[in-house]
Amino acid sequence: MHATARIRFVLVGTQHPGNIGAAARAMKTMGLSRLVLVAPEKAPDDAAYRRSAGAEDVLGDARQFATLAEAVADCRLVLGCTARSRRVQLDELLPEAAGKRAVERAAEPAEVAFVFGRERTGLSNDELQLCHAAVHIPSDPEFSSLNLAAAVQVLAYSVRMAGLQGQAAAAAEPGHGDAPASHAQLEGLFGQLGDTLEQIDFHKGRAPQSAMRKLRRLFMKADLSEQEVRLLRGILSDAQRMARLAGEDRH
Ligand code: SAH
Repeated sequence: MHATARIRFVLVGTQHPGNIGAAARAMKTMGLSRLVLVAPEKAPDDAAYRRSAGAEDVLGDARQFATLAEAVADCRLVLGCTARSRRVQLDELLPEAAGKRAVERAAEPAEVAFVFGRERTGLSNDELQLCHAAVHIPSDPEFSSLNLAAAVQVLAYSVRMAGLQGQAAAAAEPGHGDAPASHAQLEGLFGQLGDTLEQIDFHKGRAPQSAMRKLRRLFMKADLSEQEVRLLRGILSDAQRMARLAGEDRH
């Protein structure tokens, strides 16, 4: 199961069913499907299904609870989304950090919830107390409140991005054939590079240290993988072989 499948979006006390449908659509575009409703003022109706536009499955599968506490009872990370910054004594995260933290926890594995408030009044202080941290989309402080489904879209996108970045990082991990080179492997490369430069008479009487310092800096910056070190050392071996042959010709 993909980690993001353990992330649910909880809408508390939603007033307009259309927003529930639009939220379902926003989630589905980002590969999320676990919608939870806490005491909506009106159950999803035709307007909700119309606004879900293709995400009827997400809307139809939405679970309902009477209270937020019940909706997040099994969660190990609960993030409360709030239009007003610094209203409560909670850590406040930007959407990007929130997405990352959610995906990391979900991968442990653990259940994770993003919680969204009512259109008019947001989340109550008691509801925010149930959250481990608040998430604020850094909107214009003079006009800070996004439409509910728009806020859902921003957070769903953040989760998506964190998930994609996590996958890219996993693909680069050892076992996928392209682990970062070790210190010893880099030193092996530098040693062979130093010998090769001598053999092809690169320094021409200059002190070798200065060029080697610059070359070390260049290769350290490149963050080489094991495979890349092997490729470079292969090139150096061929250069050394050619230098030897050229030397033999001259004798
Ligand atoms: N008037 C309400 C706004 C509610 S908007 C208030 O001031 O709280 C409905 C929900 O969308 C909010 O409860 C919140 O969960 C989410 N939301 C809207 N704007 C947001 C923002 N800038 N950052 C984070 N969440 C936001």
